[in-house]
Amino acid sequence: MKKRLAILGSTGSIGTQALEVIDRYPGRFEITVLTANNNVKLLIQQAIKYQPAEVVIANESKFGELSGALSGYPVRVYSGYEAVEKVVQNENIDMVLSALVGYSGLMPAISAIKSGKDIALANKESLVIAGELITKMASEKNVLLIPVDSEHSAVFQCLAGELNAIEKIYLTASGGPFLEKNNDFLKNVSSGEALKHPNWDMGAKISIDSATLMNKGLEAIEARWLFNLEPTQIEVIVHPQSIVHSLVQFEDGSIKAQMGLPDMKLPILYAFSYPERLKTDFPRFSFTDYPSLTFEAPDTDRFKNLELAYEAMYAGGTMPCVMNAANEVAVEAFLGSRAGFLDIPLIVEKTMRKVSLVRQPSLDDYRESDREARLYAEEVIGNLNR
Ligand code: MG
Repeated sequence: MKKRLAILGSTGSIGTQALEVIDRYPGRFEITVLTANNNVKLLIQQAIKYQPAEVVIANESKFGELSGALSGYPVRVYSGYEAVEKVVQNENIDMVLSALVGYSGLMPAISAIKSGKDIALANKESLVIAGELITKMASEKNVLLIPVDSEHSAVFQCLAGELNAIEKIYLTASGGPFLEKNNDFLKNVSSGEALKHPNWDMGAKISIDSATLMNKGLEAIEARWLFNLEPTQIEVIVHPQSIVHSLVQFEDGSIKAQMGLPDMKLPILYAFSYPERLKTDFPRFSFTDYPSLTFEAPDTDRFKNLELAYEAMYAGGTMPCVMNAANEVAVEAFLGSRAGFLDIPLIVEKTMRKVSLVRQPSLDDYRESDREARLYAEEVIGNLNR
């Protein structure tokens, strides 16, 4: 029987690569649901090609265009964020790929888990915000939570077949486009420069997060919940070649690494086909093309976000949610030229110092903290000297 998939964020970088993967295995997968935020033109093309039962465009002003274009097809059409939460409950879904960006991924993931769907998770922010709640819910509902993030997929792959405790994990970081740059350079960096990642082709939000190292901070928190680790068991190591995707160290001192060329299609495919590995014709890694694989400690003086993320992880409660909200607002402001590159950690830090911490948060507390943090971060941006 084919695995029936919902792709949330089907027009983004992960979503389109997921559809490329699916195209290679027509006998294995079929699409029940597609959702997009804004790109209605591409969503229409995808809906006509895959003929899912349901499609959603989150931007409600695009509903007319979508429903008009699909009126001759047996596809139900919705708009708005609540509709995304609804369609993941369709009973003809086996697995939901969440490739949404930022906080918007939280409620759809919760809704999908509640209705018993396995999750392929590319939206790390949902675990950053509410990882404890989500992983608890997933284990109660007995659903699989399979990481699509390349580092976490690597750890997950290293753990396949293991019954032994993890001593620690190493999350590898490419270091982003500014690994070798000093603060004078960073002060005046443009969003165009920050969007050019040396190894990975990704969406705007994650590209900026990679350049500031916030991405690795978010991933440390994501790893904490996915693999049930203490913050002290998670170490970030800079590996500019992006070939070793992450490593697990066991209690006897042995380390397992997962390696390969940097290509998101691999972790996407593994999440879809798990526990099976499907044969691919992807390019193979050649050791002689990479005679030296290097590793170094991250520089948290220049890339303060990584330190702030660890601070939020140690603080727990709503602090990662506050940090994430401030970061989303700060990245948006940087992309819109309302804040400089080095303002991003400043905005995050000020917001973390300001918004009060709830230690044992409910879902409503996360919502409220997110809202409060966004308002305060905007205030900080309004007061920047530019
Ligand atoms: Mg990653």
